[in-house]
Amino acid sequence: MRNLFVCLALFISFLMLFCIYESESKRLYISKFLSKVHSIVFISILCSIAPLFTENKTIATVFISLFYISIDWLLLLFIDFIIAFTDSDFDYPVIKILRTDMKILACADSFLLLSTIYTRFAFSIAKNTSNGVFLGWKEKSDLGYFIHLGFSYLTVAVVVLFLVLKIFRTPKIYKQKIFGLLILVGLVIAFNIFFLVIDVKYRWSILSYSLISLFVNTFAFYVFPKELSIKIKQLIAENINDCVICFDNKGKCIFINRIANKLFGGEKKCREKFKEYESFGMDIMTRREEFNVSGKKKTFNTSFHKLRDKKNREIGSYMIFSDMTKEIERIENENYKATHDLLTGFYNRSMFFKEAENLIKSTPQVPRYLICTDIKNFKLVNEVFGSKTGDEILKYQAKLLVDEKRSDTIIGRVSGDKFAILMRKDIFDRDRIVSNTKKVQSYITNVNSNYRLEILIGVYEISDPYEKNVLSMYDKANLAIKNIKNGNREIISFYDTSLMDKLIHEKQIIGMFETAVKQNQFCMYLQPQIASRTGKVAGAEALARWIHPDYGMMQPGDFIPILEGSGYIFHLDSFIWNEAAKTLADWKRRGIDMYIAVNISAKDFYCVDLYKTFTELVEKYSIDPKKLKLEITETVLMHDIKMHSDVLTQLQDFGFYIEMDDFGSGYSSLNMLKNIKMDVLKIDMAFLKKSENIVRSEAVIYSVIKMAKALNMTVVTEGIEDNVHIDFLIKSGCDIFQGYYYSRPIPLKEFEEKYVEDSSTF
Ligand code: C2E
Ligand code: CA
Ligand code: CA
Repeated sequence: MRNLFVCLALFISFLMLFCIYESESKRLYISKFLSKVHSIVFISILCSIAPLFTENKTIATVFISLFYISIDWLLLLFIDFIIAFTDSDFDYPVIKILRTDMKILACADSFLLLSTIYTRFAFSIAKNTSNGVFLGWKEKSDLGYFIHLGFSYLTVAVVVLFLVLKIFRTPKIYKQKIFGLLILVGLVIAFNIFFLVIDVKYRWSILSYSLISLFVNTFAFYVFPKELSIKIKQLIAENINDCVICFDNKGKCIFINRIANKLFGGEKKCREKFKEYESFGMDIMTRREEFNVSGKKKTFNTSFHKLRDKKNREIGSYMIFSDMTKEIERIENENYKATHDLLTGFYNRSMFFKEAENLIKSTPQVPRYLICTDIKNFKLVNEVFGSKTGDEILKYQAKLLVDEKRSDTIIGRVSGDKFAILMRKDIFDRDRIVSNTKKVQSYITNVNSNYRLEILIGVYEISDPYEKNVLSMYDKANLAIKNIKNGNREIISFYDTSLMDKLIHEKQIIGMFETAVKQNQFCMYLQPQIASRTGKVAGAEALARWIHPDYGMMQPGDFIPILEGSGYIFHLDSFIWNEAAKTLADWKRRGIDMYIAVNISAKDFYCVDLYKTFTELVEKYSIDPKKLKLEITETVLMHDIKMHSDVLTQLQDFGFYIEMDDFGSGYSSLNMLKNIKMDVLKIDMAFLKKSENIVRSEAVIYSVIKMAKALNMTVVTEGIEDNVHIDFLIKSGCDIFQGYYYSRPIPLKEFEEKYVEDSSTF
């Protein structure tokens, strides 16, 4: 028996050495605590077998005392381990105090036990022999031993109390850890009592403690972490937002997370899905599937994975279903926002051009139109009626444009007030487009009956099927819009190549303008105006001429409208006004009593303070404002009537004469006459010429002159090419004549030679 005990003890102490090595190599937080426990168990085993090999009583007593002391410290170190293992280092401050107290107690007990060597206070020993053979030592316990026993049980009681308390404060999945320890402690107590009750010759108890120490090792390093990891993985799978289903190698469900259960409503459906995916015979497979979830269609990204061991044997599989509905909606929403105009729902600029190009490329043989619409002065609409009304107009226009939509019609809002439409030529219905546009125009009449919304439409026919640049097609449709003359009632215009030539020509003119100003290529021509009463030249109209070094003499018709369109007209006008004023100053000095009428373009009102300009001009040359007559056309007053008429009134108050030019050529001349006080009425003979019925025309002119007289206005008739109507005009009361019949516009020098120095009568 003695040998068996020694052999087992040695074997187990060897195991303890292994455990120490293993704990250290794990490098975990609990390693150092556990390796200390193992070390002290190792020491106590050695102390428990050492006395068997010595017959020296003192040495044996020392070893036995050391054995008891080691048990004290084993218990203390076990407490340290438990605290570390249950992560309770800071949980109960009271435990810290208790541990310190217990250390003091353990020291006292150790001292007591060591002193036993001399005092026999704890125990006394006697040799145990059988037939004269030394077998070991018999112990007789004394008071000191019971004190030691008391201390040991107190320590164990502290451990149990701590663990029990801990159970209540630990999350469920960690409770198992505490239970495991409690069971082990319970076993220690059970063994201890068992060996206390039955009086045995050898310390079998220490071997049982060692075995428990081994269990602790396995439990702490392997069983519990593995269990915990499985549970945590399960929890992750449970709480994940995707459906997770795991199957064994026979396709039986071994795990369905909550959300998968909700989607499939149980194992049966999950197995069916498994079979469906497995039938494809692939180890990994991903798909997109739609499911009906509580009446709503939802899109899932699904993946199926087969798991295999190293020998490629199937060990199970799992499926994951991720709900992509919201993500897809988000992406679709973003895509929509990136490609559409949110106000009208049509494509935005870039998308329109992209889609239009694709369509043209894919079916180049289909004849198509590229149409663009433009609301004139839309900025003004927004300013006057508010951007809300502006938006309403656009929405209404968009609603009507949907009428044009067929399967291969593409519509886009290319900028604030411009829509572009690509449609087949055969479905283009000019009348419908025009009538819909008129509906939009009348929309604003409900808000303000005085405002006329001008919407213009340009159409470009894609003549070359291989033409791909949609942007340039759009520009051409836009060019067609520019061709629609202001004031013309036509709202739709088709592009033709001459428009491009015109555009190029315009660009050329604008390009040449600045050099022309610098090089004095412009000059003032004068066309005499003859007083009907005396037949003498009363004054002249100043008309601009551009004498270009390469192109020769250019007429205003070639450049004035272009300069007006590009905003340069003011530079030319102020040059002519200055020339006229300079001439008047010269004439004044020379005692020549004649006036000069200058033209004012509508655009000038926006570029400059006309009142300031003209008053400064007459002051600069100290001339009579009555001699510098100002001609304006009705187009000037079409917009901002109030602002413009105020300027004109101020000029009149200063002493200028305001002439209404081209009377009769526009359509609102009478209206203007009604609203604004003018000094001179200039009748355009052109409208008399066009008419076939001379009698009726003369009747109209007669009445106009009568009306002008009634308004106290001087009447000038311009464009007189022959003497056919002269008598009639004189009789009707016309005051002044101007026209080729008398003279074409001529240079100032020639004018002075002919009419100032000569002062001939017509
Ligand atoms: P407008 O102000 O109506 O000028 C009269 C135009 O009629 C002049 O053409 C003149 O040459 C022409 N004319 C005069 N008598 C006759 C006639 O018997 N028969 C015909 N067929 N035409 C006649 P012009 O000089 O080519 O000027 C054309 C227009 O250009 C002018 O029309 C005026 O609106 C504009 N313009 C000319 N010079 C200037 C300028 O310095 N500034 C501005 N803003 N516009 C100007
Ligand atoms: Ca004029
Ligand atoms: Ca005129």
